[in-house]
Amino acid sequence: MTDTNRKDIATPTRTRDILEKHGFSFKKSLGQNFLVDTNILHNIVDAAELSKQKGVIEVGPGIGALTEQLARAAGNVVAVEIDQRLLPILADTLSPYSNVQVVHGDVLDIDLRELLAVHFPQYEKVSVVANLPYYVTTPILMKLLESRLQLEHIVVMIQKEVAERIAAKPGTKDYGSLSVAAQFYAHAEVTMIVPASVFVPKPNVDSAVIKLSVLEKPSVEVNDEQLFFRVVRAAFAQRRKTLLNNLMNNLFKKDQKDLVIQILNQVGIDPGRRGETLTPKEFAILTNEIKRTDLLS
Ligand code: SAM
Repeated sequence: MTDTNRKDIATPTRTRDILEKHGFSFKKSLGQNFLVDTNILHNIVDAAELSKQKGVIEVGPGIGALTEQLARAAGNVVAVEIDQRLLPILADTLSPYSNVQVVHGDVLDIDLRELLAVHFPQYEKVSVVANLPYYVTTPILMKLLESRLQLEHIVVMIQKEVAERIAAKPGTKDYGSLSVAAQFYAHAEVTMIVPASVFVPKPNVDSAVIKLSVLEKPSVEVNDEQLFFRVVRAAFAQRRKTLLNNLMNNLFKKDQKDLVIQILNQVGIDPGRRGETLTPKEFAILTNEIKRTDLLS
């Protein structure tokens, strides 16, 4: 049997064999829940719309279950893994795939712009596809979005509850600063709900796959992205309070109230609205007006 005819890594028996062969023990602190269901993996890969002309960055390849499927679908795969113990295992399991490179490191520390320049100079379209370690889902997603890399899609398995927050629409209970941030940079869609039973070991929560199609540029250009996130965080600080009260309590000085009301009226946002009813576009317009008036300098 040739290597490529071998059973997929993401089957319960092959995964068990690999773990036994290398004497691997899971580290819960690194969010190590490996996928053992090829149907789920095919769904993830399909959602990423890959082809041999496209590149992929994977975060956390584990023993290579998803990496193998990505290698078959994409031109080039770079997988960033923090756990050194997995490197010899990956060298073994991924040996049939010459288009995969494993990089040892913490994805939060790595310079992704440099990674793209070094590994994907000839690829116009690069996506991030991953089964993310749950303990760092939000920091990883925010890093990917805020870095404004020219990514095509970000297709990731994350906790169901976080996926629902990311894709939530204004005015719903799940809508919050994470939804605004994600939807400011991308079109967000939950493509699949995934039961805990397809992982080894089983996590305590259900999971979901979210597809972020990164916008070429945000729907409204924001002059000051840091200020944008300060405004958003302030607006959601206390959900039962009005936008005006939240902005006054968390961003502006007491004596600036009349000016803040003036700014809100200027951009057509009723000061009595709740922050959670504002669209990402409205937050952007409001930020630009606050910046223009120089009220926070
Ligand atoms: N992709 C594999 C799969 O689907 O079976 C493993 C996914 S597992 C949920 C998460 C992986 O991310 C683990 O291999 C873990 O060691 C790795 N990891 C955890 N934190 C990381 C970080 N900060 N940077 C890179 N990899 C990380």
